[in-house]
Amino acid sequence: MASTEQKQTQEQEQAPPSATYEAGCHCGYIKFAFTISPGLDEYKVMQCNCSGCTRFGYLLVYPEAKDVVWHNNGRERCSNYRFNTKLKDQMFCPKCGASIGIDNRETLKPHRYGISVRTIYGIDMDKLIYKKGDGRQKMLPAGDLSGHYWDEEKQEMK
Ligand SMILES: [Zn+2]
Repeated sequence: MASTEQKQTQEQEQAPPSATYEAGCHCGYIKFAFTISPGLDEYKVMQCNCSGCTRFGYLLVYPEAKDVVWHNNGRERCSNYRFNTKLKDQMFCPKCGASIGIDNRETLKPHRYGISVRTIYGIDMDKLIYKKGDGRQKMLPAGDLSGHYWDEEKQEMK
């Protein structure tokens, strides 16, 4: 019995701690909760320099889709934007414009969202741990678009 208890204790200690966060857009139209492991006291939040992450203000964590609970059909409520490879929805609130994150359902198995920690209620971004992503160099489709713009009519970069 003692050994069983000891084993359970060890498993609990070894299992990465997880944490659940309530989050949403600025106006309240988009609301959701997500669980990540480890929690944000240890999680290294992705701070990427690619054109998308720069423009959308992303500071990302990557919960599995099964660990994201969208309230009031929040996912369906999002407006979506795709660029370059056109494989990922960049999600926004259609009412207040808040940037929510990335839907990687076509690119990551198992399906993981990239959720911007800026959406978490009461988040103190000075207390987070960041890791720098070099998407500008390493993910060419999201290369630096500074000084250029997408011509929607002609479907080409200017
Ligand atoms: Zn909103």
